[in-house]
Amino acid sequence: MAATGRNDKLIVFESIGAPALDTSGAASHSQGNQPVDRARSRAISCSKWYPSAVRGCNNVTRGRRWQMPGAQGTIQIQQGKGSRVMIIQYYVGSRPEELEAVRAGIREWGLRVQPSTGEGAESPDAQIHVDNVFGDVKDSHRREVATFNCVKSVTAIEGVPQNLSLVRRGERHAVEIPNPYSGGSISIGEGHPLVILAGVCAVDEDYTLDSNRMAKEAGADINRGGAFKPRTSPYDFQGLKEEGLKLLTDVRAEVGLPIVSEVLDVRDVDLFMKYDVDILQTGTRNAQNFELLIEVGRTGKPVLYKRGFSNTMEETLKAANYIMEQGNENLILCLRGVKGIGNSFRNQGDLDEIVYLRQVCDRPIVYDLSHSAGRKSAVPGIGNMAAAGGADGLLLDVHVAPQHALVDGFQAIDSREDLARMIGMWRKLHKLVQEAA
Ligand code: PEP
Ligand code: MN
Repeated sequence: MAATGRNDKLIVFESIGAPALDTSGAASHSQGNQPVDRARSRAISCSKWYPSAVRGCNNVTRGRRWQMPGAQGTIQIQQGKGSRVMIIQYYVGSRPEELEAVRAGIREWGLRVQPSTGEGAESPDAQIHVDNVFGDVKDSHRREVATFNCVKSVTAIEGVPQNLSLVRRGERHAVEIPNPYSGGSISIGEGHPLVILAGVCAVDEDYTLDSNRMAKEAGADINRGGAFKPRTSPYDFQGLKEEGLKLLTDVRAEVGLPIVSEVLDVRDVDLFMKYDVDILQTGTRNAQNFELLIEVGRTGKPVLYKRGFSNTMEETLKAANYIMEQGNENLILCLRGVKGIGNSFRNQGDLDEIVYLRQVCDRPIVYDLSHSAGRKSAVPGIGNMAAAGGADGLLLDVHVAPQHALVDGFQAIDSREDLARMIGMWRKLHKLVQEAA
């Protein structure tokens, strides 16, 4: 458990799976008009632990854990000035519609609700329902929530969530990307097929259509294309900007796949909305541009957040929280290699952090094969590792004429057959691991 500052108090709630139920002797208790059996009554008494843990936060032993049967998840809250966290405990046996009514009202206030209960939590048989609410929590919110019949207790405490382990629930989250061209949507996350995001690095007039079409024919689900390019040198090509977005959306209409494109600056966010870019990408160099993260978060659009190439995982998760704090649940995390001692490739791979991210947060994870390796020949092998290692999606550059690509031609896959073969292999590995789990 991370050490906290001198005046900080750390409250840790770590719950475990459902307890082994002892229904023998089923003594009946009553909760309102509802008879509850012994197992339920045991859950009710267990559920008292949680508010008391919170009430006890002023004299809490640092790093102590509370275990609450019947729910899964981890909440780590560092006490101190900042936002307030509201914890709502519901009566056992509350109906899912009742819970949803409370949550819908909270969302209307612009707050973020994280049910911390696990699988089966929405069933009336679930033993404990606890929601955590983040954002600008006010006393009036707490009072109003307390008026709902299904609400057993509401506690608001000063505190800041520490990292994305906050959003770790029983199940990993999937983000849905609507596809207006097929009328359906693409889901990225646990339990869904591997999603391939492929297309040109930089949008150009002559090759984007053929390149992105080639990606689709080889099996890609989403097309990429940069209109605004973050370049290390100001003398390098900076992207076609609005003209590039227009070209990309024309290509989208032809090819029929949703698109992902990088937004570099808060001033351009409206433009991306005007062209209805399906996924907003924030790049490695903007990984701690918090104003930009807030603005893209506010759009509510799916956001592909790329890890900063010099950021630790803690910094990465905290920065990504800026997006989620805007009430945007459509966050997809993207690893893309980091600066390290390994100099065999353009960046040092951070494949192991796919495994780490799966342990600490529930967001879908994409691995960028092209920008991590920076070399076309490395793409198939790194793709195999990422697909087998638990990535939910893979991102890569393709170009039909890489020698004419405006940016990063050396790392683009240029053959439809090769790409189709790679994608086939990645999907097989992904499925194999998913099925064996
Ligand atoms: C890109 O995806 O085109 C890109 C520039 O990526 P990164 O921010 O990871 O370098
Ligand atoms: Mn690139």
